[in-house]
Amino acid sequence: MYIAGEFVAAADGRTFLVENPAKSGTAFAEVPRGAAADVDRAVQAAAAAFAKWRDTHWKDRSRALYRIAEAMDANAEELARTLSSETGNALRTITRPEVKLGAETLRYFAGLASETKGETVPLGPTMLSYTLREPYGVVGAIVPWNVPITISIWKIGPALATGNTIVLKPSADAPVAVLALARLAAQFLPAGVLNVVTGLGEEVGAALAAHPGVNKLSFTGHTETGKSVMRAAADRIVPVSLELGGKSPQIVFADANDERTVDGVIAGMRFTRQGQSCTAGSRLFLHESIADDFLAKLAAKLAKIEVGDPLDEATDMGAIASRRQYEKVCGYVAEGAKQAGARMVIGGLPPTEGPLSKGYFVEPTVIAHVRSDWRLAREEIFGPVMVAIPWRDEADAIRMANDTHYGLAAYVWTRDIGRALRTAHAIDAGFVQVNQGGGQLPGQSYGGYKQSGIGREVSLEGMLEGYTQRKAVTVSLG
Ligand code: NDP
Repeated sequence: MYIAGEFVAAADGRTFLVENPAKSGTAFAEVPRGAAADVDRAVQAAAAAFAKWRDTHWKDRSRALYRIAEAMDANAEELARTLSSETGNALRTITRPEVKLGAETLRYFAGLASETKGETVPLGPTMLSYTLREPYGVVGAIVPWNVPITISIWKIGPALATGNTIVLKPSADAPVAVLALARLAAQFLPAGVLNVVTGLGEEVGAALAAHPGVNKLSFTGHTETGKSVMRAAADRIVPVSLELGGKSPQIVFADANDERTVDGVIAGMRFTRQGQSCTAGSRLFLHESIADDFLAKLAAKLAKIEVGDPLDEATDMGAIASRRQYEKVCGYVAEGAKQAGARMVIGGLPPTEGPLSKGYFVEPTVIAHVRSDWRLAREEIFGPVMVAIPWRDEADAIRMANDTHYGLAAYVWTRDIGRALRTAHAIDAGFVQVNQGGGQLPGQSYGGYKQSGIGREVSLEGMLEGYTQRKAVTVSLG
């Protein structure tokens, strides 16, 4: 772990193994299993470092972040390979781009370090009133296993740019690349500014969420875990940002029955990251007039996705990240196969022999004729499993799209600009795309409606609202 500028073991010496999901049963790394005592040490180190870091000129904070980004570029291949080995994500399609995007995102926040600005308030000629934006202090950040580097940077970047210090807890399923990132960052940051405590969620994560020395919590993960973090924060009135789950709709109108839309729908579903994305467009609402034809085109393209060893350059799509997640995904696929009226368009339960049986591989799976009130259509599967639901009337499509407690992303596919924007505005989601299926880029305000989260990330307003508090200062000029 990385605490107070040093790479250390857990205080009690315990460790745990990180599995390589493409070779089930094979350990990739042995990592310290932190506990409350380690969290405490890290929070104290971060609090001690805060006193100086907050007053470090923004130019110097910015320069440190730029240098970390450069070091990421210089070590990109090693970081990407580490990510692939612990997450199962494919090197060519997912982890190399992730490291590149992570470095770009860090540069984006380095550039924003100067923007921690306040305002003046007009109160007449006898008073000068203005606001300052000040850092909170110690940020406790908890991140999941699906996009470990980029999501860590979504928190490290704005926290450090604005003068906070941070204690980061990566997922026990993917802590190694985050530790490698800390090793790069260690060259450019004073001790205690960034701390990484590895361990299990219920041990390290819960201890961090409840620690009295943490002044702000930023969490990305499951909605239920987010609720527990929020409860812990409530006890101490600590502000909390949450980026949680989703069951995002993709609405395809009849005029978008073309190859470009099919490619975009596949991208929106994040099939090449095994569907393990919070923004995966996993509910495909197809206009009934094109449904069968669109599904045939979709199946033909999905059949060409090469599933296999994440480190192989020919691989498009790797393995599900862990046994727990694999079993969960297979459970949903089995349920879809049994459901009366549903049709397995492509994919299904994983093979029991051959190379794909050696790891947690699930092929792209599409289940059609699903009803929007089935579990398959309501719960986040977080795997390469898309459900297709037909619709007839635009209002009905929007009603079904909104009939969920999630509200993270949405995708609208049509050539009619008025209809596209009308639909985008009618959907209750924080991140809507029209005729494209890409992911979050630096500068886009990103976050969820409803139970998909609170707060925004990857943007100037996300940085200011999430990582600074406003102080109003008023001076009498009389
Ligand atoms: P979890 O909520 O299980 O885990 C997220 C993080 O929380 C991990 O570091 C985990 O540690 C930790 N954690 C687990 N239990 C606790 C606890 N009691 N207190 C504090 N921390 C805890 O989610 P997953 O890792 O399974 O990630 C998948 C989920 O993340 C999906 O629902 C997905 O939608 C969501 N997600 C949301 C994103 C967004 O931006 N909205 C982006 C990416 C994912 P450990 O893993 O060691 O148990």
